[in-house]
Amino acid sequence: MTTNEELYERGLRVIPGGVNSPVRAFRSVGGTPYFVARAAGAHVWDVEGTRFVDYVQSYGASILGHADPVVVAAVQDAATRGTTYGAPTEGEVRLAEEICARVPGIEQVRLTSSGTEAAMSAIRLARGATGRDRIVKFVGNYHGHSDALLAAAGSGVAEGVLGTDASPDSAGVTAGAVADTVVLPHNVVPTLDDRVAVVCVEPVAANMGLVPPAEGFLAALRAECDRVGALLLFDEVITGFRLGVGGATGWSGVTPDVWCFGKVIGGGLPVGAFGGSAEVMAHLAPLGPVYQAGTLSGNPLATAAGLAVLSQLDDDAYGRLEVSARALAAGLRMAFDEAGVPVVVPRVGPLVGLFFGAEAPVDFDTARASVALGRYPAFFHGMLARGIAMAPGPYEVMFPSLAHSDDDLRRTVEAAHEVAHELAAAGT
Ligand SMILES: *Cc1c(COP(=O)(O)O)cnc(C)c1O
Repeated sequence: MTTNEELYERGLRVIPGGVNSPVRAFRSVGGTPYFVARAAGAHVWDVEGTRFVDYVQSYGASILGHADPVVVAAVQDAATRGTTYGAPTEGEVRLAEEICARVPGIEQVRLTSSGTEAAMSAIRLARGATGRDRIVKFVGNYHGHSDALLAAAGSGVAEGVLGTDASPDSAGVTAGAVADTVVLPHNVVPTLDDRVAVVCVEPVAANMGLVPPAEGFLAALRAECDRVGALLLFDEVITGFRLGVGGATGWSGVTPDVWCFGKVIGGGLPVGAFGGSAEVMAHLAPLGPVYQAGTLSGNPLATAAGLAVLSQLDDDAYGRLEVSARALAAGLRMAFDEAGVPVVVPRVGPLVGLFFGAEAPVDFDTARASVALGRYPAFFHGMLARGIAMAPGPYEVMFPSLAHSDDDLRRTVEAAHEVAHELAAAGT
């Protein structure tokens, strides 16, 4: 039998760090990553045959759970008709129609192959549409790994040296590439001026743990953007089609000018999208001067998977998802309370976070202070040893899916009880 250890060693020889995305390498929690052999519903099995209840769910790409039969059938069927053409397809039109029908205010979208591409393209569009250079982002918000947005970013980037100024987070990103990126503290409404093309925000921040917007933050950002003629961009790569039919836009009642999507809309295949009003989107080539393209954009397998996912996401589905998330959050809270280990368990709709410490973080500094308590690695490994897979990094959130059963949630909370008592006994 192939073991995780063996595969990791082989991977380390031919892939930097043995992984194709840094957070998968277990650097911040220690140990050897499990290599997934297969997955179904709420569960993944590693190559050694160990089953985990999975809250990673591809960082939110799988909202129905893994290998949903309708999605699998749609992808299989699409594959028999060819996997990419370099010509437009009905699937692209239908997925764009679905997105526009669901999100209040959006009139047109363009499909990409990842959330990173969507965010990168959206800021190019915003700059082209306004004729302005500056972009504003908030510390701890993650908008993918394009150069201009790799400044004080969340998720795996936050585990390294995270500057809270506009210096690059990554070697290889030049000072010039982030020279027009202004990075500001999250949840504080900035005073802008007419040099700002676009303000990018995760409307419910989910890459520094889960940090809901402060009361009135999004509405005040909207007003401040309007005051100076800047565009407001909601990066809904996590929240889109997850917080409800209309994503964070529907949830908050605040309508941005530009949106980014990814994760859920690909049903586990590589997809992103960015969109806005027909007027803003008309700046894109071939209609306008802002160039943006992609050989695999709107890929037929990906659009088939995305449509199969969206067809199952109605109000009833979101209601069920929220019931699960509520039970998970309440169970985790109770487990830690009983053990006397202070935690806060924020929840927004179906998204659940967990921070050690007594205070709910409101921005990156307070999230980092929680992470600095150093309790996440022991929590992560305690859960993993009991068959519960959380993300191997302290700045991620939990993604209960529609496939998580009451039994899965009960087992998760039972495991958390045991781990919380271990943490209390260790007294760290
Ligand atoms: C995951 C994520 C991205 C990047 O998407 P990729 O598909 O990983 O490139 C961008 N923004 C947010 C908010 C994300 O969570």
